[in-house]
Amino acid sequence: MNRAKTTHNRPASQAAAVVLSAAALSCALGLPSSAAAQEPRPDPKTGLYSLAAGGYPLDAIERVLAPKGKVRCPTVEKTRYPGDVIPYHSKVMVARPFVGHLRAFERLVAEVAVRHYGRAPRKLRHIGTYNCRRIRQWPTFLSEHGLANGIDVAGFDFGPAPRAERAALPKALRGAFTVRVRKHWRSERAADARHRAFWHDLGRELVAAKHIFRVVLGPGYPGHEDHLHLDLAPWRLVEIDLDATDAEADPNHAPGGATE
Ligand SMILES: [Zn+2]
Repeated sequence: MNRAKTTHNRPASQAAAVVLSAAALSCALGLPSSAAAQEPRPDPKTGLYSLAAGGYPLDAIERVLAPKGKVRCPTVEKTRYPGDVIPYHSKVMVARPFVGHLRAFERLVAEVAVRHYGRAPRKLRHIGTYNCRRIRQWPTFLSEHGLANGIDVAGFDFGPAPRAERAALPKALRGAFTVRVRKHWRSERAADARHRAFWHDLGRELVAAKHIFRVVLGPGYPGHEDHLHLDLAPWRLVEIDLDATDAEADPNHAPGGATE
């Protein structure tokens, strides 16, 4: 089953997941002021906020900006976060409620990495979180980076494989190595096949994990050939070029099937 709508103007080997709901956007931005009065709380077990409309503490913040002029970012309580399941190469400044969602993301990355490489990454390489600015594609909206409510992920660094996993791995993946969106997302080198599969598997998991992030952007979205942008804006926006899985590429296996 396809998890997201696809567009048809891309190479046949790739499916672009595009979900943009303008209705959800205006609806979310028009949240009643009472939403601010009932401060949302995270699930005590998972640390995650509900991502139903209004369920996340930053949902009620106005994102619309005057078309011109200096951007002033609303005050949001921030914290320096070093990473937990996967340490970050440098600490990030993020809105407090975002931390639980980053931790869930790290757990997801670790799971996918274990499937492909037999271990979790040693470091997450990011290219920023907090940055008070407009959305480049929609300049009348504040970027979630302006609320410290988003992260740009460039890749992961892996240490040597544990002894028990070594035999199952190709030689090149037994020692330390790095995976990067820029270098591996579209690589056609045979030597990079596993890295490409790792990224696209992770991309599919992120699109499916609607409880972790609402916005998932990556290669295929303008300006995102070298990183994944993940945030908790009060709307859903997914645009990322994903390779078809083996099941989707099989003409005998009708995508969507009875559910469409
Ligand atoms: Zn970003």
